[in-house]
Amino acid sequence: MKKTSNIKDYSLKIEHLCKNYDDICAVDDVSFETKHGEIIALLGPNGAGKSTLMNMIAGYLAPTNGNIFIENNNIATNDIITKKSIGFLSEGSPLYADMTVKLFLKYIIELKLETDTDDIAKRKEICQSELERIVEVANISSVLNQKIETLSKGYVRRVGFAQSIIGNPNILLLDEPTDGLDPNQKDYMKALIKDLGKGKTIIISTHLLDEAQTVASRIILINKGKIVADGNLKNILKSTKTTSLEDAFRVLTM
Ligand code: ADP
Ligand code: MG
Repeated sequence: MKKTSNIKDYSLKIEHLCKNYDDICAVDDVSFETKHGEIIALLGPNGAGKSTLMNMIAGYLAPTNGNIFIENNNIATNDIITKKSIGFLSEGSPLYADMTVKLFLKYIIELKLETDTDDIAKRKEICQSELERIVEVANISSVLNQKIETLSKGYVRRVGFAQSIIGNPNILLLDEPTDGLDPNQKDYMKALIKDLGKGKTIIISTHLLDEAQTVASRIILINKGKIVADGNLKNILKSTKTTSLEDAFRVLTM
């Protein structure tokens, strides 16, 4: 029997997405679908349009054209769906500088976390246990009482990451997640992303080739706002007749 396609086979569907900033076309007719369990590296040179694309998927930036669907919901008409199912670490993680890490995370948990109880004590308990969970996953217990403005860049990034996993969203968008981390922290973050990726859709943006190769099961290469390759490493090497991602990157982004 012919298999009928199920609309929810995809976690995310991007259709003909465009974003213009005045006369700059930052994202140019981008379309792709993602599945649950996929870790995707959005790879491209600086200025390729990665952050613009992620900001649109996260609902921070309105597209000039095109549509974004999460399962069968168009986020333009059902924005609450975006907020519930997407965790987002934006570029540079804008955080409240004069808050302590703990206060900041508690504040976002209270805004984001849905509980089905009106019982204040119960709600507090749920928020506290979510705080403990994300602090452990992001490995930031040592800076909990520090003001965000006093943190190193690496810790700021990890606090931003902790914020992105509040409520355990099905789709995680991480814009340059290892930016500012030292080599050990980078390895920790890469292992964490791989582990979290089981059953979720994770899109990381990066201009680092080794990160794309070691973390992702699929690479979407973007250049000047357009997708120039989409597939696993083997397919990308085959289609570009190259033997390394470095060479493929060079061929595709020249
Ligand atoms: P990437 O994240 O891949 O480095 P961006 O999405 O930040 O790329 O930028 C894509 C293009 O859009 C670049 O040419 C950049 O200069 C331009 N751009 C990004 N944000 C803005 C903005 N707010 N106003 C005008 N141009 C912008
Ligand atoms: Mg960027």
